[in-house]
Amino acid sequence: MLFSREIQIKKKVQVCIVGGGPAGCAAAIAAARHGVKVFLAEAHTCLGGLSTAGGVPIFMTFSDGENFVADGIGREILDRMNIEDTASPMPNSISAEILKRLYEKMLLEADVDFSFMTEFIGTEASDNSITHAIFNAKSGLFAVEADIFIDCTGDGCFAARAGAKVMIGDKNNKVMPATLCSLWAGIDWAQFRKSGVNPKQILLQAFKDGIFRNNDPHHTGINQTGKNLGGGNMGHLFGLDPLDEISLTKGLIEGRKQAVEFERFYRKYMPGYETVELAATASLPGIRESRRVVGDYILNIDDYKTKRIFADEIGRYSYPIDIHPATTKRKDQAEFKRLINSLRYKTGESYGIPYRILTVNGFNNLLVAGRCVSTDRPLQSSIRVMPGCFITGQVAGVAAAIAAEHNVGIRDFDIYNLQLRLKNIGAFLPNFV
Ligand SMILES: Cc1cc2nc3c(=O)[nH]c(=O)nc-3n(C[C@H](O)[C@H](O)[C@H](O)COP(=O)(O)OP(=O)(O)OC[C@H]3O[C@@H](n4cnc5c(N)ncnc54)[C@H](O)[C@@H]3O)c2cc1C
Repeated sequence: MLFSREIQIKKKVQVCIVGGGPAGCAAAIAAARHGVKVFLAEAHTCLGGLSTAGGVPIFMTFSDGENFVADGIGREILDRMNIEDTASPMPNSISAEILKRLYEKMLLEADVDFSFMTEFIGTEASDNSITHAIFNAKSGLFAVEADIFIDCTGDGCFAARAGAKVMIGDKNNKVMPATLCSLWAGIDWAQFRKSGVNPKQILLQAFKDGIFRNNDPHHTGINQTGKNLGGGNMGHLFGLDPLDEISLTKGLIEGRKQAVEFERFYRKYMPGYETVELAATASLPGIRESRRVVGDYILNIDDYKTKRIFADEIGRYSYPIDIHPATTKRKDQAEFKRLINSLRYKTGESYGIPYRILTVNGFNNLLVAGRCVSTDRPLQSSIRVMPGCFITGQVAGVAAAIAAEHNVGIRDFDIYNLQLRLKNIGAFLPNFV
């Protein structure tokens, strides 16, 4: 069936960003601060992606133990969030409402044009350049014309629909399990800390008592995110296909069932949680892995092992190889532990990130940032965490601004110019001279 319509070109901008998660926000702020006209479209009702609507309660490390590697916009977001968040004792923990407002404030301050409930559905292209992105919103279908586009959808949705090459999961296209994160109220954190009880230790007792339908030993638990609030990153949705709405629907239903089991578990076994209540499950499913967009280079596990330095290095990162096990089977759980522990860096170590993992193969004006950049599977499991997404988002924003300013493609400027501008906004570039 062919479906065609005449639609309005509603906006003409220099940089069009699709997706307002950590990567999209960093890209939009970075580009707009370099003086170009930016439009960002977000399908959901707020900025932040998994860091807000997805309920992920804590930022992973911004540092390699010695250096603040997610410096620049990443540091600014963390610092400004902590100025407003006085309830949580952990500097990395996220109060989703504070963070939603902070992203909005930072995008508005930078003069980024953005709209919510605006879903990207397709592209128009001429030769190897995208001319328009097509959106569906309350007002109907419309197009946005731009010089440069950035895919920050987490799923590589923009690049895939434009016809870019993508990779998915392992050799059988299987991805890490997802998690439906959750918000918990009524926790007595002082009482819990005083007890010294580790939830992982008492999980085994709960397994014996039949609290859960599926005994999953990989339990990350609840982080304090407010005075009596906690953010839960627990439970796995095994076998979920993140690119299929039927599978996602089943996964969300299953996630909400799991949350009730966790409520029973925490109330029954955990000091300080006697009156805990499930306040909400997240409004976005927590997808760890889906498409990886093929760029001009595929950052890989050997680069991680050798802590490689690149001529076109635009950042460095250090989070370990964290591929969540695909099942609760002992062998899969053991392989997860082997990888995360055996390949863990020492203090001060990191791997280089080349610009070429953001330049989408086959396109003159399409960049990608965030969870779906061009990597192999193990490397994706490291760079996917939010400080990693701030790094690649910031770079995509600055690169798009340079290309738009000079009216050239994403490969047609001196990489030195990009590195210099990144350095000027605080990026960690120890190998740039
Ligand atoms: C369960 C779970 C736990 C995690 N725990 C941690 C942790 O503890 N610490 C940490 O640092 N990281 C953690 N991560 C990783 C991290 O949260 C994500 O990898 C990161 O948020 C990815 O950022 P992103 O900007 O690439 O994508 P996302 O955060 O997924 O944002 C993508 C945005 O694009 C929008 N979008 C998608 N498609 C369209 C479309 N067609 N049109 C318009 N908009 C669209 C989405 O609505 C969303 O807002 C976790 C991830 C999961 C799933």
